[in-house]
Amino acid sequence: MALNEFSLIEKYFSSLGKAPGVALGVGDDAAVLDIPEGEQLVVTVDTLVAGVHFPHNALPSDIAHRCLRINLSDIAAMGAQPGWFTLALTLPDPNEGWLRQFSQALSDDAELFNCALVGGDTTAGPLSITIQLFGTVPKGKALTRSGAQAGDAVYVTGSLGEAAAALSLFGIGDQVVIDHEAERETLLQRFYRPEPRLPDGLKLRDLASAALDISDGLLADLGHIAKASHLGAEIQLEQLPVKSWLKALAEPERITEWVLSGGDDYELCFTVPQENCAAVDALIEQGELSAVCIGQMTNEPGVRCFSFEGNDMQRSLVNIEQSGYQHF
Ligand code: ADP
Ligand code: MG
Repeated sequence: MALNEFSLIEKYFSSLGKAPGVALGVGDDAAVLDIPEGEQLVVTVDTLVAGVHFPHNALPSDIAHRCLRINLSDIAAMGAQPGWFTLALTLPDPNEGWLRQFSQALSDDAELFNCALVGGDTTAGPLSITIQLFGTVPKGKALTRSGAQAGDAVYVTGSLGEAAAALSLFGIGDQVVIDHEAERETLLQRFYRPEPRLPDGLKLRDLASAALDISDGLLADLGHIAKASHLGAEIQLEQLPVKSWLKALAEPERITEWVLSGGDDYELCFTVPQENCAAVDALIEQGELSAVCIGQMTNEPGVRCFSFEGNDMQRSLVNIEQSGYQHF
């Protein structure tokens, strides 16, 4: 017998993940949550629409991982801890195979990242998934975009450009032929299962002056910190973290475009006051934080890119517009 709305919710979404503070979860008119004393609620929401944010043939497990993780990345960027989420699911039809895989993947990630599904909404229509995630942070400790000062160092976590390279596998943007199955798989994983930098966000709470996650591309997102902080920024292209195997996949201009303007990497970009740089660098040296310094905040508006050209150790300004980056 076909699933109706209520049996579908009961079967696939009644108990996913665990988190403290759930006074009332799925099944009533609304959830009731206990927020720990002295903490603030941090709330974010993201929608993924089939054919817009992922290909129509994407696996249900991949969609689930991506939708929860991009929300977790926002929570990480705030220096907060995830707690609870709601799921608004619009489905063309109640396909049980699809629902089983989707809810299993969502359940796995909810367990992995210590958050619980506490409610949602289920409707019929073109495939679309919205997750709203609630986290907590000690009062006044959230990392925002607006706290940077001129002279603060700019860092990014992990490596950049891989998610943008993955888009070329979907036929979006210029085509790049990627022959090796292992590399294709790594890129797809990078796109569908971004690693939310939650531990990093917590470590940076008392060290960073501003932070965000890179969803629109480094230049655009660092531009958001600069604008919110009424500053500018400069970065050194040679310092950008790019995997060497990625560099081998395309010509340098394409790689630079992936790294600077490709979104979806979900790494953190954060600024650090000079007096905290030694502490951040110590975390990096101890292997407790994977990040590199790529530049600094300045008083001149905009984000400017510098490069060491040829053997000349003189820094030169790279005109991003001339290089074909239309975003700025
Ligand atoms: P209401 O009509 O009061 O909005 P619903 O019939 O939409 O209630 O939902 C019934 C219960 O099931 C609610 O507790 C709601 O939060 C939960 N729910 C509905 N859809 C989902 C879903 N996709 N995932 C998790 N919980 C859901
Ligand atoms: Mg409803």
